[in-house]
Amino acid sequence: MRAIVIGNVALDETFAVEALPQGGESIFGSHRHAGLGGKGANQAVMLARCGLSVRLRCAVGDDVASETVRSLLAVEPLTSDLHLVPATATDRSIILSDATGANVIVTTTDCARAMRPRDALPALDDAGAGDLLVLQGNLTQDVTMALIDAGRARDMTVVFNPSPTRIWMSEALTRVDLAFLNEAEAELLTGLRGEAAVAAMLRAGRGIVALTSGGGGALLGRGDEIVHVPARPAKVVDTTGAGDTFQSVAIASARRRGGPLAVEDLTRGAAAAGLAVSRFGSLSAMPSVAEARAILDHPAMDDRTA
Ligand code: ATP
Repeated sequence: MRAIVIGNVALDETFAVEALPQGGESIFGSHRHAGLGGKGANQAVMLARCGLSVRLRCAVGDDVASETVRSLLAVEPLTSDLHLVPATATDRSIILSDATGANVIVTTTDCARAMRPRDALPALDDAGAGDLLVLQGNLTQDVTMALIDAGRARDMTVVFNPSPTRIWMSEALTRVDLAFLNEAEAELLTGLRGEAAVAAMLRAGRGIVALTSGGGGALLGRGDEIVHVPARPAKVVDTTGAGDTFQSVAIASARRRGGPLAVEDLTRGAAAAGLAVSRFGSLSAMPSVAEARAILDHPAMDDRTA
C-alpha cells in the first residue's frame, strides 16, 4: 500500500506579529522562520513520517528556490517527483502568525497551477487497488477532476482536502472516498455549518467526512452517524499546518489498523495536531518520525468507532 500525494510545494516564510494587519497598515514582525511548506508537501511529509510509503508529485520553477525545495525534501522519508515549470518562480507562502496563534497566509500557486493532466496523471501509472491518492485544492479543476476519476478507475482510495476552496470543489467532494475540511471550507461548499454541513456532504457523496473546527475539535461523519472528537488541549503558538497534521496522522492510523477512518484515528490526529500548534512554523512544527510513531503506537483514549 502506497500513498501518492499530488499537490503543491512552497517555500514558507513565517513571521510572528502582535496582531494581524488591517489594509494599509505597516507592522513589525519577529521570529522569522523559513522552511518547506505547501499543503501537498505538508501532507506527504507527515504521511511519510508516520511510516507510509509516500510519493509526492509537485511542480517547482526553474530557479534557485527549486534547489532549496529539492534539498529540503531529500531529508524526508519520501520519494519526490518534481515537475519543472520553465520561466516560473517556485511557489512561496508568506505566513503571519499573531499572539493567539491565528494566521493569515498568502501563497503563490503559479507552478502548481501550471501542471496539466499530462504532467500529473503518469504519477498514477503503477498505482492500484488499496493505494491512497491524496489531493488538495491547489491544482486546477481539470487536473483535480482528472486525477479523481483516474484514482477511482484504479480502485484507489481517494482523499480530498478542498483547501484553498473553490466552488467547483463541491462536485469533486461527491466523488471521493474521504474528505477533510474545516468549518469555513464546509460553509463555502454547502452553505451550512457543523453537523448540518457534514450531513449534507454525506447525503451528496459516497464517502467519509472529517470536519475540523480548530480548538473545537472535529466531527467524523460516516454512514448515518456523526461523532464529535475533541481537540487535544494545547498551549497554542502557531496553528499553521494543524489541518495537514491532523489529516495525515488520522489517515495513517486508519491504514495501520486496516479499517475505515474511525474515532480513534481522529483522536490520534488531534494529538499530533495539538503538538504541531504548540510550536512555531509549518512542516518544522509537525511531529517528527519518533513523535509520530509514539502517537500511532499509543492506544487512543477513545476507541469507539463511528
Ligand atoms: P490549517 O489550515 O491551519 O492547517 P485547518 O483550518 O485546516 O488548519 P483546524 O480546524 O484549524 O484545521 O484544525 C485541525 C485540527 O487541529 C483540529 O481538529 C484540532 O484537533 C487541531 N487544532 C487546531 N487548532 C487547535 C487549538 N487551538 N488547540 C488544540 N488543537 C487544535
